[in-house]
Amino acid sequence: IAKKKGQGRFHFYDASLNALAVRESELTSRFKSAIQDNEFCLHYQAKYELDGLRLGGLEALIRWEHPVHGLIFPNDFIPLAEQNDYIIPIGYWVINAVCAQIAKWRANGVPTVPVAINISAQHLRDSQLPRHLIHAIENHGLAPCMIEVEVTESSLIDDTEAAQANLRQLTNAGIRVFLDDFGTGFSNLSWLKQLPISAIKIDRSFVRDLRNDTNDAIIVASMITLAHNLGLIVVAEGVESKDQLVHLKAVGCNHAQGFYLHRPAAPENIESLLQQQVLTV
Ligand code: C2E
Ligand code: MG
Ligand code: MG
Ligand code: MG
Repeated sequence: IAKKKGQGRFHFYDASLNALAVRESELTSRFKSAIQDNEFCLHYQAKYELDGLRLGGLEALIRWEHPVHGLIFPNDFIPLAEQNDYIIPIGYWVINAVCAQIAKWRANGVPTVPVAINISAQHLRDSQLPRHLIHAIENHGLAPCMIEVEVTESSLIDDTEAAQANLRQLTNAGIRVFLDDFGTGFSNLSWLKQLPISAIKIDRSFVRDLRNDTNDAIIVASMITLAHNLGLIVVAEGVESKDQLVHLKAVGCNHAQGFYLHRPAAPENIESLLQQQVLTV
């Protein structure tokens, strides 16, 4: 590495790399106590049926309320947890927290809808996952159809068999599986027929320019046709405008999620939405 004077560019690069490494090791060293001290929390984002804008479900999205750094979003710590073997304990924390939240809403007489949990690649291969998840659902007195699991295409690549075996156990138990960020991984279309999935979630990168980019519009329409012909439901992610919503409805998309409809929010702000069930925009 260049250390000579006059090569400040490299110095700057070194310094920022170093800061990043320090921050990463700082976060990583805190994972264990963060679980114990309950520093993680879940926000929930609504998913609406395009026909009638009825609430079709929620997605649980983890956040870290770090005592020093404030609210940290998952893209800044989930990859670290995946690299350092903390993703499985964090995954179990999420599973429990979601089940407890649904049970709490029910106990308070709040109408509930299915809640989707994002599962990382590593966790998907953990042979204990189905047993743990089913156990958590039963422990909280819930029906299995109240929990949905979201997995990405890329999480299926290595050791597809182990992942597939777990997914089968989950679906056999009545838990539905969604293929997240569809179209961005190594879209292996044979997975669509091989894996026991109920729905695809079209990645928001295809939705963003849907109204102006003919290619995106063609890709989205084709994904919907393909999925429907295979008997799968289609959810669009990242809907940020009314135009996108109208377009997606016209091409037969089933559900939509996005800031235009609802921004992820803390559980106490979800209650009114659960009471209401139908969105008026
Ligand atoms: P994802 O599962 O694809 O979740 C959708 C992400 O897009 C969320 O970001 C959500 O806040 C954001 N989003 C929703 N609507 C819009 C929109 O209209 N526009 C834009 N620009 N963004 C929108 P978030 O919460 O930061 O999560 C990012 C990713 O982190 C998730 O992507 C998921 O892969 C992962 N993640 C989140 N929670 C968990 C978790 O509990 N466990 C694991 N393993 N991963 C999680
Ligand atoms: Mg997701
Ligand atoms: Mg997604
Ligand atoms: Mg994603």
